Amino acid sequence: MSGEPQADCLFCKIVAGEVPATVVRETENTVAFRDINPQAPTHVLVIPRAHYPDAAALAAADPQAAADVLTEARNVAEDEKVTDSGYRIVFNTGSGAGQTVFHAHAHVLAGRGLQWPPG
Ligand code: C5P
Repeated sequence: MSGEPQADCLFCKIVAGEVPATVVRETENTVAFRDINPQAPTHVLVIPRAHYPDAAALAAADPQAAADVLTEARNVAEDEKVTDSGYRIVFNTGSGAGQTVFHAHAHVLAGRGLQWPPG
């Protein structure tokens, strides 16, 4: 898998600036933006610029970019000042687990009580 942009991928279009998003952080390998349909007071998505369909594929093909996604998830939590109260990093993987956009992404969720197990 090459990581090349896919014409029909919404998150590739956000990376390219073709679809608007509220971007909060950017690095060489990643973009972080607020989820359009937030499920918690803090709900930010961290995506690799490269296209891989899910986090497992990203980690297999480009471990550095996968590590950068995790580092940026932590940086988002620090920016949002939720490291003390706690936050959750979620990678929905596969439609059966709720994945709807097949470009790898981490959800960073915080700011309310988060139940376990998740629904
Ligand atoms: O894990 P899943 O694939 O379901 O997550 C995709 C997320 O992308 C959803 O939380 C959805 O609200 C978000 N989204 C977005 N901006 C868009 C389209 C979807 O933040 N333009």
